[in-house]
Order: sequence, then structure tokens, then C-alpha cells
Amino acid sequence: MVIVKELTDDLIAYCDKIGIDFVGFCDPTNFNKFDKDHAPESYLKKSKTVIVVGFHLYDLSLDAWSKDEKRGKSYHFADSILIDQCHQIKSFLAKKGFKSKIMPYEPGLYLKDAAALAGIGPIGKNNLLITKKFGSQVRLRALVTEAELSYGTPIHESAYCRNCDICLYSCPAGALEEGKYNKDICLNYCLKNFKKFSESTVIWCNKCIESCPVGKS
Ligand code: SF4
Ligand code: SF4
Repeated sequence: MVIVKELTDDLIAYCDKIGIDFVGFCDPTNFNKFDKDHAPESYLKKSKTVIVVGFHLYDLSLDAWSKDEKRGKSYHFADSILIDQCHQIKSFLAKKGFKSKIMPYEPGLYLKDAAALAGIGPIGKNNLLITKKFGSQVRLRALVTEAELSYGTPIHESAYCRNCDICLYSCPAGALEEGKYNKDICLNYCLKNFKKFSESTVIWCNKCIESCPVGKS
């Protein structure tokens, strides 16, 4: 038990040192309710912890996608930083003798659920993770590891949303009506209304992120 706490504290200190905005840990058995494409053991058989890493979108333009025509690939600035941070965590744990795997974005794990299960914050009426410090202005990535770490307490309800409907009214497409996210309505709107920063760089609608008052102070 002491070893688990020591390793967790060491990893948290390391994450802080390399500039990770927030990190959380959850029990892989919490994912048993999801299908096997979204289960940690499908990616790492003996996984003992899911590590969720978060990046604060301190400027929403960091959420833009840029296409590299020559390589035929798209890059997401915030995601590129997160992947790099995940590699650093993987090396840190490897030096301590633990195997880890960086989760692919798709199918991968349900990242918002993973963050809520790690106790980072609830999923709000905007269908996004809400963090106390940064609101929903965050992006996430995950790793699974054979290292046993101290799990956070899962959060199943958003206390922030009890007396608030701001995001529901802010969504220009009506995709959050009655507090339920409608993916098709959202996607249709986003595909027709993205903003172009340049020929190769676009940003999608972010009204549900921007409008949430949590963490804005
Ligand atoms: S991304 Fe835009 S359209 Fe989609 S739910 Fe958020 S505010 Fe609505
Ligand atoms: S804007 Fe209000 S209702 Fe929407 S997610 Fe944020 S706190 Fe919840």
C-alpha cells in the first residue's frame, strides 16, 4: 500500500515538473460496463491503472486542426502536446519497471468517462468534462499501465449544473436541448460552420466550452 502511494506521489510530482496541467488515476475494472474496444485490458492485458492526462486550452485556438498536405496528415496542437506528455509518463514508469501503453484516440477509452471515474470532475449538461480550475476548456488523453496507483473517487453527477442551463441556450444548433447531447445535430452544425484560420487550419464550434462559467475566474 505504501509503495502504491509513494509511486503515485512520485508520478504526480513528475507530471507537475514536466508541466502537465492535471492528471488522475482510475481503476480499470470501472470500464467493464463498456464494450471490449473501450476496455483497458484490450490494450494492455495486465493493466492496473488508467492514467488520464489533461491539457488546459488556455487559448481556444489551441483546439484548431491543421492539415499537413505533404504528409496527408492532420495535427491538433493540444493533442500533440498531450501525446508528448504521455510518452514522458510512459518512460518514467518504464524506468520503475512498469509497462504502459498510450491509448489511441479511436477507439481507445471514453476519455470524459475516464476523467470522471478518476475523480477529476463530472460530465456536465454540455456533454463535456468540467474541471474545477479550467471548466470545460480542456483536452484529454489516457494511458494504461501495469503500475498500481492510488485511484481517485469516481464522480457521477455534476453539482455545477444543478441550477444552470447556460450551455443549453448557448448552443447555436440546439444540440443540448433538455440536457441531452445530440451528436448528429452537433456534427451537422459543426461540419457546416467551422472557421478557417488559413487554407490548412480550421477550428470547430466551441460554444459549449466557452459558455460554461465554471473555472472562468
Ligand atoms: S460543439 Fe457547438 S453545436 Fe456542438 S454541442 Fe457544442 S455548442 Fe452545440
Ligand atoms: S454551462 Fe452550466 S449547465 Fe452547462 S455544463 Fe456548465 S455548469 Fe453545467
